[in-house]
Amino acid sequence: MSVREIQQFGEPILRQPAAPVEEINADVRRLIDDMFETMRAAQGVGLAANQVGIGLRVFVMDVGDPDYGPRAFVNPVIAERSGGIVVEEGCLSLPGLSAEVERAARVVVEGLDPSGDKVRLEATELAARCIQHEIDHLDGLLFIDRVSPLKRRMLLNEWAKLRKEAARR
Ligand code: ZN
Repeated sequence: MSVREIQQFGEPILRQPAAPVEEINADVRRLIDDMFETMRAAQGVGLAANQVGIGLRVFVMDVGDPDYGPRAFVNPVIAERSGGIVVEEGCLSLPGLSAEVERAARVVVEGLDPSGDKVRLEATELAARCIQHEIDHLDGLLFIDRVSPLKRRMLLNEWAKLRKEAARR
């Protein structure tokens, strides 16, 4: 296993819808192992494949709750969503930024596990939020797309400032 580089906001792959996995082969399983290691090294709770530069519909999550994993989903889709909740959210591809984002309070996600078996998981709280955030990534969306235009402008200004400071270091 190895830690892969996390793509930062501005990399085109984060804006491209990821392609379905056609066959869960050794490369895909290695990708999943590396994604778990990369997510843990970054102290994240979820990571999508395009965040490590691979445009495939795969995400991993570990929200620290044994009911929900750690687990990986291949070709995930949200089959049901209900309720609404607004909570502060961040992203490993936009380090330093966070905003309140509205998400469904409960989702049911369906997909395949790394062995290719069908899985269906009902999730609430942090797991539900994580699933929606990661599937957004696979559709080329980021949490800054889920806030008001004004808030989005503020976040983009903050990001530009953070990048400038990072470049100076
Ligand atoms: Zn993210």
